[in-house]
Amino acid sequence: MIHTDLCIIGAGPVGLFAVFEAGLLKMRCHLIDALPQVGGQLSEIYPQKPIYDIPGYPEVNAQDLVDNLMEQAKPFSPTFTLGERVDHLDKQEDGSFIVSTSDKTKVHAKVIIIAGGLGCFEPRKPVVENLGLFEGKGITYMVKNPETFRDKKVILAGGGDSALDWTIFLSKVAKRVTLVHRNETFRGAPDSAAKVFDLANQGKIDLILSANLKEVSGNGVLDTVTFLDKSKAEIKIETDYLIPLFGLSPKLGPIADWGLSIDKNAIEVDTRDYSTGVDRIYAIGDINTYPGKLKLILCGFHEAAIMMHSAFKYVYPDQKLSFKYTTVNGVNSF
Ligand SMILES: Cc1cc2nc3c(=O)[nH]c(=O)nc-3n(C[C@H](O)[C@H](O)[C@H](O)COP(=O)(O)OP(=O)(O)OC[C@H]3O[C@@H](n4cnc5c(N)ncnc54)[C@H](O)[C@@H]3O)c2cc1C
Repeated sequence: MIHTDLCIIGAGPVGLFAVFEAGLLKMRCHLIDALPQVGGQLSEIYPQKPIYDIPGYPEVNAQDLVDNLMEQAKPFSPTFTLGERVDHLDKQEDGSFIVSTSDKTKVHAKVIIIAGGLGCFEPRKPVVENLGLFEGKGITYMVKNPETFRDKKVILAGGGDSALDWTIFLSKVAKRVTLVHRNETFRGAPDSAAKVFDLANQGKIDLILSANLKEVSGNGVLDTVTFLDKSKAEIKIETDYLIPLFGLSPKLGPIADWGLSIDKNAIEVDTRDYSTGVDRIYAIGDINTYPGKLKLILCGFHEAAIMMHSAFKYVYPDQKLSFKYTTVNGVNSF
């Protein structure tokens, strides 16, 4: 049994920053993540993508941000269980919890912080015969390392932010990028869509609209992808890679069974302290919802700071917490 003050479920950017905020208040954290590495969506989906809306960083590479968050958390010696999904929360008589994972790890904690992002996510796959034959052999659902695609022919399929962002990014890396989308307009950010249309007009990428994925083929590895245009004519494209980016299916997984109030796959919270309505359980980052919620990293950071001040009373019931700037107390490691 691992004993800790706070058990943080999810080691994405928000869970990692929560360690720092907890540490300032002398609360220890143990983090559990179903993925084999920390960083959540940033490390798993877009490690090499630049991010432009982290305060103080005009531009930061997603993996660098994760590395910096780990560095920032280091003085407070967080401990980790990675590659294991949290399945159960069992409330104890004194109000604390025992958390159990898919691999039977048990953590005893005074407070639970759910920073589970999109939940245990899986990519939405197109319904096409033989897709599975080429997974890992030309078909991938995530861009982990853009260098994989250097000087390769790449087809991206999709109309959301991921498809647009990666089309823009890979247009500078790959030999040729083709973006295929089933509609005439994109769901993703208008700025990104405008950039994609510009790239197509300049001949830097191929853009195929109103087309649907029909077939994938190759001899052991993917070499041809067939689309159907709106007149049902076939478009065959030779390629090294196909990256279908149709989003992640929002699977809350076990979190949905913990008696919390759920709205559209997110946990409803009280914005005064991001508590869930179940005593000693908080939810921060992409996993929570409230009027006006924005699924942005910086919003999760704010929620972590507020939430820790509320959780303090469960860890130190006999102490009064007075707010101080970090310059007063410093960052005292433990
Ligand atoms: C392509 C793309 C581009 C983006 N660009 C930006 C941007 O430029 N700026 C910005 O601010 N935001 C951006 N975002 C959104 C940003 O990534 C999220 O807001 C952020 O990742 C949320 O952080 P989080 O820590 O709440 O959750 P996540 O990063 O989703 O991490 C949650 C972690 O919880 C784990 N988990 C869930 N359930 C369990 C369980 N039961 N047991 C164990 N582990 C569990 C998951 O495995 C995951 O690792 C982008 C998102 C995408 C997809």
